[in-house]
Amino acid sequence: MDESKPAGIDSVAVAAGCERTAEGEQCEPIYLTSSFRFADAEQAAARFAEEEKGNIYSRFTNPTVRMFENRLAAMEGTEDCIATSTGMSAILTAVLGICSAGGRVVAARRMFGATLNLLTSFIAKFGVDVVYVKGADAEAWRFAARGRAELMILESPTNPQLEVCDISAISTVARETGALLLVDNCLCTPVLQHPAELGADLVMHSCTKYIDGQGRVLGGALCGSAELVRGRLFPFLRCGGPALSPFNAWILAKGLETLPLRIRAQSQAAAGLAAWLEGRDEVERVHYPFTEDSVRGRLARAQQSAGGGIVPVVVRGGRSAAWRFINALRLFSITANFGDAKSTVTHPASTTHSRLEPEERAEIGISESLVRLSVGLEDPRDLQKDIERALRAVA
Ligand SMILES: *Cc1c(COP(=O)(O)O)cnc(C)c1O
Repeated sequence: MDESKPAGIDSVAVAAGCERTAEGEQCEPIYLTSSFRFADAEQAAARFAEEEKGNIYSRFTNPTVRMFENRLAAMEGTEDCIATSTGMSAILTAVLGICSAGGRVVAARRMFGATLNLLTSFIAKFGVDVVYVKGADAEAWRFAARGRAELMILESPTNPQLEVCDISAISTVARETGALLLVDNCLCTPVLQHPAELGADLVMHSCTKYIDGQGRVLGGALCGSAELVRGRLFPFLRCGGPALSPFNAWILAKGLETLPLRIRAQSQAAAGLAAWLEGRDEVERVHYPFTEDSVRGRLARAQQSAGGGIVPVVVRGGRSAAWRFINALRLFSITANFGDAKSTVTHPASTTHSRLEPEERAEIGISESLVRLSVGLEDPRDLQKDIERALRAVA
């Protein structure tokens, strides 16, 4: 970034990537068009031959999508970024751009349910060896990577258990074994954590969550070096087709402007609620590593500047108590989404992670009594009252 420009992330979030037309509009324009006009047949041929730079078709590039990509790359501190239609299509783009038959993907066992399902049920069909390891154990990554690992995938903190992985240690293993490391930074966003600074080659986002932040559109992104992102991933995006809609890109770019304010407020409220929930008899356990005096708490504080807005709570009494608690909440909407300005609540075992076998769920710490709260932007005192009332309904 230019030394004369402000580099604080709040400043980057409102300004980076902004391109204006000759109309002088203040807000970024939306280029809602599927294709672009060429001056003549010669120009069309030159664009396709890549002899001349410029837009061709919105499956390849679009100025509004580019604006969003440039803003997110500036916030992540990476050279480049490509946006995709969803978080899942970002992971698919990374895997198809990097992996080959006979190669191996090493992945943390605790990850978003659809990521596990994509790797196990589909990617493995194409002759890619998919191996799962305990994310917190750096030596397990080294052992699993021996020989032919091309890609390592982890989430930190994980959805929904908030397990923390040592990104620096695992990135060292990745470098030494010749694999690329992808970190799903969905829960922290670039405001709270910079995986690329810790050695990750690719930083992936489901922009559907905090980056939108108001529950409107789906989107995904991959940030990394220009060589990797433009050279190896963009060619798949161009022909595979998981492009982000320009309208969604515009919503997401505007979402980035308020992201620092939102996620800090949500983190603060979540930390307060987690501490209060710890003391409740109806609650067996609260997972909020950032404020814990433990090894994973210290690791979380070394990697993140705050704990994020998710509070996983284990209530006493199994599935029936968890469901009674969820059903009694009034300010939390029951949805599969999180990161919204509106607080939301999810029962992972019967929804986001229901496609896993019961043993697989048990292994990754998703019990029947686990409830995922996503703290929104309501007054935290109102949220606490609502939770208190719902907990009494369980008892
Ligand atoms: C939601 C989510 C995804 C998938 O993103 P979509 O936008 O829903 O496709 C991937 N990883 C994590 C951690 C998520 O929470």
